[in-house]
Amino acid sequence: MKYDLVIKNAQLVDENVNIFGSIGIKDSKIAAIADTKNTLDASRVIDAEGRTIIPGVFDPHCHLGVNYDYDEDMRTEMAAAARGGITTAFLYIRNKEPSYIPFYKDRRTRGEANSIIDFGLHFGIQREEHIHEIPTIAKETGVQSFKLYFGYEPDNPIGIIPANDGWVYATMREVAKLPRGVVSVHCENTSIARWVKEELLETGRTDLAAYSESRPVLCEIETIKRMIFLASKTGARLQVVHTTAGQGADLAAAARAEGIDVQIETCPHYLVRTAYDKDIGVEAKISPPLRDNEQKEWLWRGMKNGRIFSLGSDHVPFFPKKSESVWTEKPGVVSFPWELALMLNHGVHERGLPLQRLVQLNSANPARRFGIYPNKGSLNVGTDADIVLVDLDLEKEVVHEGKGTCIYSGMKLRGWPVLTISRGEVIFENNQVNESLYGRGRCLIFPGMDK
Ligand SMILES: [Zn+2]
Repeated sequence: MKYDLVIKNAQLVDENVNIFGSIGIKDSKIAAIADTKNTLDASRVIDAEGRTIIPGVFDPHCHLGVNYDYDEDMRTEMAAAARGGITTAFLYIRNKEPSYIPFYKDRRTRGEANSIIDFGLHFGIQREEHIHEIPTIAKETGVQSFKLYFGYEPDNPIGIIPANDGWVYATMREVAKLPRGVVSVHCENTSIARWVKEELLETGRTDLAAYSESRPVLCEIETIKRMIFLASKTGARLQVVHTTAGQGADLAAAARAEGIDVQIETCPHYLVRTAYDKDIGVEAKISPPLRDNEQKEWLWRGMKNGRIFSLGSDHVPFFPKKSESVWTEKPGVVSFPWELALMLNHGVHERGLPLQRLVQLNSANPARRFGIYPNKGSLNVGTDADIVLVDLDLEKEVVHEGKGTCIYSGMKLRGWPVLTISRGEVIFENNQVNESLYGRGRCLIFPGMDK
């Protein structure tokens, strides 16, 4: 067979495979993976020179079109994702109109006109009509993943409509009926946080750690416990997103042992940064907040022992922050271009996290959770050729040139993506994203759907 593209002399690593050899791509699919030193016949052959091939990162958690125009974000941020070795990104996206159907069509069309990588959508429950519409949304759009937001006061600067327990219960009951249904919850008890915040405001503190201390870990743990209880009563799959509390991972493990389907996601910033780091300030406000070293290392234990299921970037580009007061600043940072490098450096190199385990956390498991594994997230023959060539020993400094706030600038990291392939096409190489390929990305069609 003549392949379209072959990468030879590569260590090929996914959740199940770890061999040295070649990977062959034909018609946008992985067509061969072999422990051969012979060169497979191909239109283009890339010599990996011993470097590593892993499945493209599947980032299940980002927010685009929040401050900047959606079309523009789908162009610039998805290009930033390609640079970071991400080949699929899912947006948690909200709509305040009564129906999600026109919204889906609009965001899908505009996304496909601009994105360089494949993408998918999770919908936020922002009013009661959305809960009633869940069966129709699933049927018409294929989206079976819904998010509810605790942790935002009614007057929050982002305009998120917070959930209540009734919304969660009703949403879980509906989503439990769907074959791929998942309910994601932002877990933070705002009513407790409000009291603690009032006390902190009286002290006059405006630093980053004051914000973290105003939303203590117990707020997150309380809501995780309540959501696990509701999941147990409804049979819904629960996804605890952007978890900052190590104990959250242990609680979920205990619940799974009792047959409750709950999984824990965490984000690179909670694994790399704390609110007490001297070189960051108010701009590092994130919701939920950065914690301390104890929580950070507890999360790393969860990354290693399997109690944490997946990674999400929570990448959100806001307009440049004013850095005036931590209490009025918008929460959120960007990390698409560095997430993989951060995990290779701080996880694989510094903490001995096995590379196969990292691949599971940032490719296989998120794809599995949202119903797209193994077509995304594996190196299986016959699946989409979404792969990334990684130089595990390349050392480079984080330089931020795009939108949003980066809290890693100047950090020297070892281990970087150097070439990204999406459905067989090279979209990033020689430090350049191929801009002529903007608009090639597709909104994912789920198994069993033909639209
Ligand atoms: Zn988020």
